[in-house]
Amino acid sequence: MKIAETVTFGGSGLNRAANLRAQAAELVQDSRARVILLWRGKPMLIGDALVRVPLNHPMLNDAGADMVFLGQDPDAVFAADLSGWTPQGLADETLDSFLDASEQRHHAAPEDASFRELRAVMTQLSPRDAELAATARAIFGWHLSHRFCARCGHESQFSVGGWQRDCPACGGHHFPRTDPVVIMLITHGNSVLLGRSPGWPEGMYSLLAGFVEPGETMEAAVRREVLEEAGIEVGEVSYLASQPWPFPSSLMFGCAGTATSTEITIDPVEIEDAKWVSREDIARSFAGQHSEILPARKGAIAHFLLENWLADRLD
Ligand SMILES: [Zn+2]
Repeated sequence: MKIAETVTFGGSGLNRAANLRAQAAELVQDSRARVILLWRGKPMLIGDALVRVPLNHPMLNDAGADMVFLGQDPDAVFAADLSGWTPQGLADETLDSFLDASEQRHHAAPEDASFRELRAVMTQLSPRDAELAATARAIFGWHLSHRFCARCGHESQFSVGGWQRDCPACGGHHFPRTDPVVIMLITHGNSVLLGRSPGWPEGMYSLLAGFVEPGETMEAAVRREVLEEAGIEVGEVSYLASQPWPFPSSLMFGCAGTATSTEITIDPVEIEDAKWVSREDIARSFAGQHSEILPARKGAIAHFLLENWLADRLD
């Protein structure tokens, strides 16, 4: 797909400078280096742009000691995690929801700066800021959930600019995880297969998706998931586009597949409903004129694939 990388989080060609990661402790001394800030996975923004502060900024007194080296843009860019800081009057109930609209303001932050849910702002960020924020969120999430060595259980240590954890007890090295997920545009003639999960907003339908299993190709995962969830047989499968999805650590592989059967039998444990939807109904749904089907959320690769299927831009 020619325009694959225009998807949200599709990348900006950031120079990740992996060769400099081992020297991250020295790069921190560079007065030109800048830091982006996250609080519980939410980046600090002013308007639609990431806030970048120098390394002597007072907000960093509330940050964890370990900063992730993200690359050069053009000078060194780090990410700091302020998750240990507790905002005044914090209401927990909306945090970590898809549409968390709450904003947290730090007393030492620049005017109008606040921590905001990445999924709520992802389509407004520049490709560079989206890549930096997605990378930082995914890496901090990995450190949080991989504190202990998977070989011996001892607490492991942040190293190589945040791109590795080392175990002082057994010498094991651990690297950030990215979990492959297939998400598939399954078509039959003029219609596409959509499904919905329990708990989604009323009327929302999207493409079927599922984790790739060990020992499985992407193509096999597409066929297995569609058969398991909807009882539909799939023939030819092709790759379209990918999207890093740092909620918490997925890489979505957008695929196209041709159905060879049409009778739907859902697995009620996995999904609540599935249906064939015509191109005309998808177009009406995207135009906000369909009474029963809400489209997949903007910014998600499902929305991107459906939008480009409608526009005949999957080549
Ligand atoms: Zn160990």
